[in-house]
Amino acid sequence: MKYALVTGGSRGLGRAICIKLASMGIPVIINYQSNGAAAEEVRDIIHAAGGEASLMQFNVADLQQVTESLEAWEKEHPDDYIAYLVNNAGIRRDNVMFMMPDKDWHDVLDVTVNGFFYVTRALLPKMMMRGHGGRIVNMTSLSGLKGMAGQTNYSAAKAAIIGATRSLAQEAAARKVTVNAVAPGFIETDMTKDLPQDELKKLVPMKRFGKAEEVAELVAFLCSEGAAYITGEVININGGLY
Ligand code: NAP
Repeated sequence: MKYALVTGGSRGLGRAICIKLASMGIPVIINYQSNGAAAEEVRDIIHAAGGEASLMQFNVADLQQVTESLEAWEKEHPDDYIAYLVNNAGIRRDNVMFMMPDKDWHDVLDVTVNGFFYVTRALLPKMMMRGHGGRIVNMTSLSGLKGMAGQTNYSAAKAAIIGATRSLAQEAAARKVTVNAVAPGFIETDMTKDLPQDELKKLVPMKRFGKAEEVAELVAFLCSEGAAYITGEVININGGLY
């Protein structure tokens, strides 16, 4: 059986991605860091719709937690493997650079870049060896492409993910594993709820924030058979805001 793992699947984009992938008949593993109640809610929604979902708590930035959780899952599922990985977990700690505390710099890089590395490296061997291929979708951001004042930590982390996506795509292509990145603009989630939405909407050619479900549609396409020949791409989903 081929499973999907969505990091940060308890809320926002990850939640919508879990629900969408499950609706395609893929059993989904919902990773979260601390918000167990939100993760359970996602699982219950999927079960109510007839899908398959389970929870897996770990901090993507903690190598030991990542390794132990994924090794335990593999032991319990000797005939299965995680064929779809959505590296979605992310945090913002905005500040102008000259006032940025060390911790805010390191936390954002740790979750986004190290988290991507730890989880992806752990799953790649099975994905590449099983011969059935796999899909890796990395959540980057408009901020990683064009930069955004007050986000040097976040932009650096998201730009790193773009570089890693392009390199890993070339490493994994011969094993039928595709690696792509999705770069959302402003999407309505907990992460953006403190932003002045009315002001920012005016900057977006479509005059609105995107919906998590719209991002989930794109991720689902990249995970589908139809996207088998797309790899190393960064796909923007931003209502025309570049
Ligand atoms: P969100 O609503 O704040 O949700 C973040 C999710 O990530 C939660 O499920 C959270 O788990 C999880 N998470 C955070 N740190 C984690 C860690 N160390 N280990 C495991 N899980 C962790 O954020 P979002 O808006 O959905 O964003 C999802 C991704 O899209 C992020 O990578 C973000 O940078 C990117 N993005 C978002 C936007 C936007 O406008 N919203 C735009 C561009 C890119 P808990 O529930 O346990 O806290």
